Amino acid sequence: MKLVNNQNQLTIIFNKALKGKKVQIEPYRNKPDIDQSKKAGGYDYIKSTTIKAEAAAKITKLDTTKLWLETQCDDCTKKDKEFLNGSFFKLKAISWYNPLEKMELRGWYTSTQWTPIKSSYGGRTGGKHSGLDLYAPVGTSCYACVEGFIYDDYTSTSYGKTITIKGKYKGTTYYFFYAHLSSRNVKKNDYVKIGDLIGKTGQSGNANGQAAKMAHLHFEIRTKGTKIGNKANPSNTVIELRKSLITNPEKTEQI
Ligand SMILES: [Zn+2]
Repeated sequence: MKLVNNQNQLTIIFNKALKGKKVQIEPYRNKPDIDQSKKAGGYDYIKSTTIKAEAAAKITKLDTTKLWLETQCDDCTKKDKEFLNGSFFKLKAISWYNPLEKMELRGWYTSTQWTPIKSSYGGRTGGKHSGLDLYAPVGTSCYACVEGFIYDDYTSTSYGKTITIKGKYKGTTYYFFYAHLSSRNVKKNDYVKIGDLIGKTGQSGNANGQAAKMAHLHFEIRTKGTKIGNKANPSNTVIELRKSLITNPEKTEQI
């Protein structure tokens, strides 16, 4: 559940077994009256959708009460209905939003080598590199990975334009650090909601002058609000990030 335009957006994850079923979702406060909600052009439901995979129909409403679900398949059998009646929904509270839409390690660090692993945490010589270098052509949108406050927005010769969000992941406070940005949509002390657009990637700081084919977002997770040290391995810290991070990207797809 997250706030979108001051309304709660509820994401419903359907059971995989519902794949191919067309379902309607209606919020109600008391006993639902399906017939009364039928209008000339069809049912006055909030949302009708066909389940394509294990995810994800979205509805937006002010408060959450209960949901009524009915199949609308042409050959809807009693068994289908029983099955749906016996189904359950997982109401997912979003605790993480990836900083970039596409999460993959940036490769191509020299003219002769394709080495995405060097973009990982500790991936440089001697275990150096305390963050992730994520593939991001200049101008790629960066999103707030958690809800929180902009802890800092400093610019340095190494990291360039940066944003640090102070927020919680699964109950623990971290400092989420974005570097080499080209622009920022937020400033120090701003409050950000999870998934907010906070800036665009760039090649500022010591990435300035690098070839376009090396453009990336340098992303760190710090356990304290310091500029040096206290850096955690993002892949070990955030399970959603680890699951979505492509560590063996296709060279031909990184422009
Ligand atoms: Zn880096």
